[in-house]
Parts: sequence; structure tokens; C-alpha cells
Amino acid sequence: MSIELPRKAQVVIIGGGVVGCSIAYHLAKLGWSDVLLLERKQLTSGTTWHAAGLIGQLRASINMTRLARYTAELYRQLEAETGQATGYRQCGSISIATNTERFEELKRNASMAKVFGLPVNVISREEIKQRYPLINDSDILGGVHIPSDGYGNAVDITQALAKGARNGGVQIVQDCKVTAIRHDGAKVTGVSTAQADIEADKVVICGGMWSRDLAATVGVNIPLQACEHYYVLFESVAGLDPTMPVMRDYDACSYYKYDAGKLMVGAFEPHARPWGVEGIAEDFCFDEIAGSFEQMEPVLEQAMQRIPALQHAGIQKFFCGPESFTPDVRYHLGESPELKNCFVAAGMNSIGLQSAGGVGKVMADWIHDGHPPADLWEVDVRRNMPFQGNRKYLRERVSETLGLLYATHWPFRQYESARGARQSALHDRLVARGACHGEAFGWERPNWYAPKGIAPRYEYSYGRQNWFEHSAAEHRAVRETVGLFDQSSFAKFRLEGPDACRALNRVCANDIDVATGRIVYTQWLNERGGIEADVTVTRLAGDCFLIVGGAETEVRDFSWLKRQIPVTERCVLTNVSSAMGVISLMGPGSRELLQSLTPADMSTPAFPFASSREIELGYALVRASRITYVGELGWELYVPTEFMLGVYDEIVAAGDRCGLVHAGYHALNSLRMEKAYRHWGHDITDEDTPLEAGLGFAVRFDKKGGFIGRDALLRQQEQGLRKRLVQFKLHSPQPLLYRNEPIWRGDTIVGSIRSGMYGHTLGAAIGLGYVDVPGEIGADEFEIEIAGTRHAATASLRPMFDPTNSRIKR
Ligand SMILES: Cc1cc2nc3c(=O)[nH]c(=O)nc-3n(C[C@H](O)[C@H](O)[C@H](O)COP(=O)(O)OP(=O)(O)OC[C@H]3O[C@@H](n4cnc5c(N)ncnc54)[C@H](O)[C@@H]3O)c2cc1C
Repeated sequence: MSIELPRKAQVVIIGGGVVGCSIAYHLAKLGWSDVLLLERKQLTSGTTWHAAGLIGQLRASINMTRLARYTAELYRQLEAETGQATGYRQCGSISIATNTERFEELKRNASMAKVFGLPVNVISREEIKQRYPLINDSDILGGVHIPSDGYGNAVDITQALAKGARNGGVQIVQDCKVTAIRHDGAKVTGVSTAQADIEADKVVICGGMWSRDLAATVGVNIPLQACEHYYVLFESVAGLDPTMPVMRDYDACSYYKYDAGKLMVGAFEPHARPWGVEGIAEDFCFDEIAGSFEQMEPVLEQAMQRIPALQHAGIQKFFCGPESFTPDVRYHLGESPELKNCFVAAGMNSIGLQSAGGVGKVMADWIHDGHPPADLWEVDVRRNMPFQGNRKYLRERVSETLGLLYATHWPFRQYESARGARQSALHDRLVARGACHGEAFGWERPNWYAPKGIAPRYEYSYGRQNWFEHSAAEHRAVRETVGLFDQSSFAKFRLEGPDACRALNRVCANDIDVATGRIVYTQWLNERGGIEADVTVTRLAGDCFLIVGGAETEVRDFSWLKRQIPVTERCVLTNVSSAMGVISLMGPGSRELLQSLTPADMSTPAFPFASSREIELGYALVRASRITYVGELGWELYVPTEFMLGVYDEIVAAGDRCGLVHAGYHALNSLRMEKAYRHWGHDITDEDTPLEAGLGFAVRFDKKGGFIGRDALLRQQEQGLRKRLVQFKLHSPQPLLYRNEPIWRGDTIVGSIRSGMYGHTLGAAIGLGYVDVPGEIGADEFEIEIAGTRHAATASLRPMFDPTNSRIKR
């Protein structure tokens, strides 16, 4: 029976998997009934139908755990609400550790879960055996138990969401493939199908593994690639029981789930096999794929050891299905930076069922309100670089990312695949100096330098890693002499034209209408006062500005600024990131070093803090900007890319006389944490305001013309702050802070650590985190919990290192 398609809808959702149906359900809950969901075949026929059904809640970060927790809560009541069975069973879960580092990770996660009250119990080997009698516990050290975890039937859950959506007025049409996304060059206008064209205000791409290619047809970048994903269903073994918890053995890349009288063993093998790289068959529908038994074999061998009863059980079903994976194992959510009103929810990385409730909720809120309901940067589609849609890159990277779900989430863990994509002009020179590069958004960046005789290679642990002392030496050199950082990965934009100043000043909270050659540190705010970007603006000329931001926010910052400037304003925004490299010289000896290389006068009267001008250096003209992210006297040198090697060689040749030391990003992070310099994405996000973040000094309320977010800040000033960013230093020099650790005040958790690093000058781990208590912040009333143990910490609203900026302005 053919169904008459509407010719217009407020929202068209492409894809009837669990994600699309959840967004439809949540839009309906918000009162959006003019919603049309189009599915090319039948609901769940892509990846959803074969999900194993695990619904776990503890993820690697607070925000992702929140989404997963909401999902579990939703599924628990969905059957009662819709009348559609979901197969949901709250059986709890156990995750086991067979080495001390894994146990530390589990305990750290259990501490993190306390921040929002998810009960996670650290349990002993004996308790694991008691809760899971089939297990061989000989090598188990302990684990965690989450009583509210469970499993469900993916098809039934999706149907229940679809039913709930229909009840709210959503129209769902199956066997209707979207053949094109329609747009007017700037925003979406609808979709095309074989039956009809449909106008739409907003389009949401939830097409699972088909999303990348469909989006690419309209220039929208959704980097994902399907991989084979496996599980095996064993014949029944004695002792199986429907109430037994789901069990995860991360160190053996496997999970175990009771499944209708049988035992399912699923795999997260370290090297996955990409699938469908040449495209996906048009008729793919409820399909399995052949896979390779050899891929699963090592996991099964370990499974026989873990559950000895399996040694005598036959295999009832060997299953392999495709699922989308992304370069950083995080989903892609939100409005695309390339096309307005084109939303994305794809790349579920094998946890789409347990994520879909939360994903549907935040996507519906995002569509409804025009902005994300909370900080979702880690999964925001705007984090992706254009090159990440490259298929060779994706193929290589996703074969690693599948396994990362169950791998130990080491602090500072680096990808091993698809490396070397973006390299600074200095790359080879820095390798010769012993650089150990890490990867950030494709950029190879020196994280630390190995002294002669030491391999530039990570040895991971939760304690002090092998680079700790080398990085400490770099840190000290910057504080005492001078360090060289390669910061070429900075994002750099030029805004120029007669209206550039007016347009940019409306976006910046600080006043950028300054004299030519001045540098202004500023935030860009949204209408709610939240910080959308954290940049420096240098006035190059009356009508021309250089904007510098972090490498990770290149796409987001560019698109944010572009969208704030109407076409009627006469200015042009250009991304010039690749045109310039950046060499930073930082430390008390930086002036002497630079002065020895240039005829320009580098003294403070001639070159004060926050000023910028072109100087001669070697054969080049470079822009020297006196600014710092490490809290020392120093200059960032913006060098045309083709002059980078020559300039670097000049600096290094002279550097020996001043004790120049090469320093990496780990040292940079340690230095900036001591000075409490904020990092966008960690310490400041779109849900934190400059007042809460202690950045009020960079807000000019009284500037002519105002700025976006001003009214919200004024309101907040009037009502008083409900949270403040605080710097912490542990009393003990031993423990290490990373992120997400709970902050205690007395018997109450009052916040969590946003970023943590060891401060080598201050002599202990330093953390920055928001404390949700108004009033006075007493210095010594806080404790920070790490892996279940609380550590006393000193708190301060002023930077603990050089609070008067005396070192910067010398
Ligand atoms: C073996 C295996 C086990 C898994 N186990 C679990 C688990 O235990 N727990 C868990 O949380 N997750 C699990 N997953 C992952 C989970 O199944 C997926 O993350 C989830 O189903 C993805 O949902 P989706 O809606 O994004 O994609 P899909 O289910 O693939 O839905 C996308 C839909 O879009 C449709 N579509 C595509 N293009 C178009 C178009 N042009 N027009 C119209 N429609 C279109 C497709 O037909 C498809 O139905 C597992 C995955 C596999 C492979």
C-alpha cells in the first residue's frame, strides 16, 4: 500500500534505527508533532536489529555517563508508557579487573560516578564469584558492580520509541529512501525521495553507516566507517540464570550476557576489520555479514578460560554485523557547521542502544532550543576536521578505535593508526631532537622530548609515566631559562574589511577596537552568556584582525564567527592556519635570545606585554606577539610556513648560548595549570560564563555597541553566581589528577575536576574545577577523590603561581 507523503514538515528525520526513533520520540515529547521520519527499508533493518542489547551506564566521562544513565532510566519505564514490550531487564553488571592498572581505572570511574549519584560499588574477587558463580576468578583482583545496569531487546525498544513518537503525532514512513538533501547553499530546505520532494525547516541525519556518504553529497562532514562487529551465542550451559548480571572482562576484550537460556560472548578485539569500504549494497536490510571466525578466535579462547563451562558447550550462532565507528570513538551530534539546520546523530561506535535515549533527548532539545542543552563538545560534530572524511584515514583509524572501547583508557594514550596526517614544517627537525609526538585532530605535536639514549615512546600507567621527569625538566627550563614550543597547530583566521571591527566587536566580550599592534584576549559568548570560544585577537591594521584559537576548535570557531556576521556586513573571514607556523619562545631568557637575532627593540618600553609587530629574524619577516600561555615573559612568533625551517635553525643556533630547551605540550599544560590559564573544552565551555570562570577581567560591559551575551551576564551579576572555577593543589605531592575527580567539601560533593596536571614548580597535582557553592571559598576545606580515596587540597580563586603577573610583565 503506498502512503501519501506530506509535502512539508518542520523536521525530517532520515533513518529509522534506534537513534532516529529516539529523536522522534523526544521531539514529540517537546510538542513537535509536525515531524516526519523516513526509513529506506524497515525500522531497525540497518544495525539496530542485531545489537546484543547491553545497556550499561558508566562511560569514560561525566557527560557521556549522564546520557547513558538517562537512557537506562527511560528504557526502564518505556514499556509501561507505550504498552510495547522492551525486554528490558535490570540485572546489574560486573566489570572485572585482572591487573592493578585496570582496577585503578575502574575505581577512578566509580569515583566519577559519585558526582551525579550513580551507585557503583567496588567489589572484591570473592563477591564477584558469589555474584557470578560460573566465573574462573583465579586471576581477578576485583571489579565494580553497577546494580542499575541491564539489557533489553533492541528491536522492541526501537518499536516502543516509534510507538511513543507516533502517539505524539510523528509520522513514520518506511520503504522510503531519502535520495537527496535539498538546500539553498546556506541552509537545508528539505529532502527528495523517489515518491516526492518534501520541504523541511530542519533535517536530521540518523542514517547509521550510510550517513557519511549521504552527508557528503551536500558538503557535510560526518567521519565514520563501518566495521565488522562480532558475538557468539553458546548453547546452554549448567548454572545459567536469567538474573545473572552482564559481565565485562575488558582485559580479555569480551562481554558476557544471558540471552534467553544461552550465553552470549561479545568481542571488542584490538584490530577490527573495516567493512563496506567500497560502498554498501542497495538492498542491505536485516543482513548479517560473513566475517571471519579467526577474528573472534583469540577472544573465544580466553572466554573458555574465563567461563570454563563453555569448553563443553556448542556454538549455536556465530554472528557478525556492521556498525559505524568514528576516528575518536565518540558519536557525532549536533548541527553541522557546513549547512544550517542540518543536524547529525550518527557514528554510535557499538554503544548506540545504550546511548540512544540520551542522544534522542539532547538532540531534540538542541533542535527545539537552537543550542545544545549542556556541554556536549566531546561528541559535537563541529570537532571534526575536513580531512577526517578521507576514506583511507578512516579505514586505518577505525580498525583501531573499535578495540579502544575495552582497552585501558590510559591518561595521555595516543592513537597508533593513521598517524602523520598533519605535520608542522619543523616536524623532522623536532624528531631529530627527540620529540615524542602526540596526535591532536590530525596534527602531530611534540608532547615531550626524550633525552639522548631514551626512546621517544610512551609507557602508560595511571602513575608517573616514563616521560614525567623529562617533561619536568622542560617545565623548569621554561621557568628558569627559555623554552621553545612548536605551536603551529593553532587555528588562525583573518577578518578584514571596512565592517570587520564592528562585526568582531559585537562577537567579542572584550573590546577589540584597540590600536593597531595590540593583542586582546577575549571570549565569544552565546546569548546565555556561555563561552563559545576563547581566542586572542590582534589588530593588524584599522580594518584587519588576526584571530588565534586552539587547534581543536578550528572548525567550530570559524563557523561560529561566520554565522554571527550577516552577509550585509562588509568583511571577509579567511582561515589562514596553514599559511603560518608558530614558534613560541617562553621564559625569562626569551628576550635575550630574541634580541640576539633581530634588530628590533625587544625591551618592554618598545615592546610591551600584549603587543604584536613584525620583526626581522633570519631572512624572514615574522610577526612577534608578546603573549603567553605559560605565565612567563615570552613571544609567539608567527612565521610564514616556507620560512619556518630557516627561522627555527637561526633560533636553535643561537639558543645554546641562552640554555634554550625544547619543550612539549605536556610541559605547556603543566605550566598553564599552575597559572590557572583556562582551556576551552575543559575548564570553559558553552555552559560556563566568564563570570563563573573568573574571566570577568576580559569582559567590557560598557563598550560601545555591546556584545552578544551581555544581557545574560548582567542578569547573572545581579542574581549572583551559583558556581565558580577554583584552582586546587593537592597537599600530598604523590597522587595525580587527570579529569572528572569529585571535589568534596565536608560530606558533600560540590563539583568535579575539569582538568588536572602535575605542577612541577608548585610541587603537586593541580586541578581546575567548578564548585557549586555560593559565598566564600575557604582555602583548606576541600578534598578531591581519586580512585576511592579522598586527598586534602588547597583551593584558590587567584592563580597559585605568580598571582601578580610579575614574571610576564618583566
Ligand atoms: C554485533 C553488534 C552488537 C551490538 N551490541 C550493542 C549493545 O549491546 N549495546 C549497544 O548499545 N549497542 C550495540 N550495538 C550497536 C548498536 O546496534 C548501534 O550503535 C545502533 O543500532 C545504531 O543505531 P542507528 O540508529 O545509528 O543506526 P541504524 O540502526 O543502522 O539505523 C540507521 C537507519 O537509517 C536508514 N537509512 C540510511 N540511509 C537512509 C536514507 N537515505 N533514507 C532513509 N533511511 C536511511 C537505514 O536503513 C537504517 O535503518 C551493537 C552492534 C553490533 C553490530
